[in-house]
Amino acid sequence: MRKKIAAGNWKMNKTEAEAIDLATKVAGVTIPEDTVVILGVPAVYLSQVQKAVSGSPVKVAAQNCHQKLSGAFTGEISASMLSSMGIEYVILGHSERREYFAESDALLAEKTDTALGQGLKVIFCCGEPLPVREAENHVDYVKKQLENGLFHLDSSALENIIIAYEPIWAIGTGVTASQEQAQEMHHEIRTMLTDKYGAEVAGKMHILYGGSVKPDNASELFGEPDVDGGLVGGASLKSADFEAIIQA
Ligand code: PEP
Repeated sequence: MRKKIAAGNWKMNKTEAEAIDLATKVAGVTIPEDTVVILGVPAVYLSQVQKAVSGSPVKVAAQNCHQKLSGAFTGEISASMLSSMGIEYVILGHSERREYFAESDALLAEKTDTALGQGLKVIFCCGEPLPVREAENHVDYVKKQLENGLFHLDSSALENIIIAYEPIWAIGTGVTASQEQAQEMHHEIRTMLTDKYGAEVAGKMHILYGGSVKPDNASELFGEPDVDGGLVGGASLKSADFEAIIQA
């Protein structure tokens, strides 16, 4: 039985005091037994958020890491730095990183290898832009992202991967995929995993939905059989909204 995962992605938001306040509030939430809560926080606050949630089951994720372990890469953060801090998760391949920072599938494959090599768990994002969805090529588009970014891994490495399906047209737009659209793509992704790795591995993998998840649509989305929770942007910035999503 797969657990449900409620992962927040704070993106580039919050002052230091606000970040600590939000993390402290989330740490105070009564989390259902079968649910894992992860906060994707700005790198500058990782340590403080880690302290704020210590003693609670809440986990902490970085939002990115570099493909190399160290060196002359001013401003960058390495997977070895994250693991040396005891950070458990890193989000890779978010569509904003793919679009604004030109992160290619090949680069993301490299980042994924580096992160896994440092013992991090990877929340690997995929998802199609609106024209691709309108042309009904979304399944092939996501398949390519997964083949190029993840499918070089062996099945034991996949234990440390969470896939987040985030249709770009639904991110931060207020437009949410319908529960049928989410289930259709999650089922397709699980079928791709089954074809490549077999049913046992595919059945254990967590596939999250992301894109304008809110308290009022979380239950129906998470109720779909192949939707194992959500990666939540805007609604993770307010403790009451995120708590409602955790309970959903
Ligand atoms: C995200 O950034 O991963 C996301 C899904 O954002 P939002 O929930 O705001 O659409």
